[in-house]
Amino acid sequence: MANLDPALLGALRRAATDAADDGVEFVVDSGWRSPEYEEQLRREAVSKYGSEEEAARWVATPDTSAHVSGDAVDIGSDAAAWLSAHGAEYGLCQIYSNEPWHYELRPEAIGHGCPPMYADPTHDPRMQR
Ligand SMILES: [Zn+2]
Repeated sequence: MANLDPALLGALRRAATDAADDGVEFVVDSGWRSPEYEEQLRREAVSKYGSEEEAARWVATPDTSAHVSGDAVDIGSDAAAWLSAHGAEYGLCQIYSNEPWHYELRPEAIGHGCPPMYADPTHDPRMQR
């Protein structure tokens, strides 16, 4: 949980407490990542998917990754299923249709619902840097 945005961490803790009442355990698979680790993941994705373009649908660069900036978490499937139903109440939103495990804080979602998802990160203007 080191280096995560405190507001994101607080929202996750509140959600995890309430999910536990429903018998759902929150597992965070990946939170903050160093730029070096993000670049390693990106290189692995390039060799797995065969091109920079295809890899960009799954892994950001160190300059664009919300994991490197401390603004994203990847969570286990039980927690993701719970958050898909309840996350907006905490401002926790799935951002990309192809990544049901990836959540970021969208405080405006509280009361308004989460914003529409991008199909994958290549459609996210933040990734166009
Ligand atoms: Zn992620």
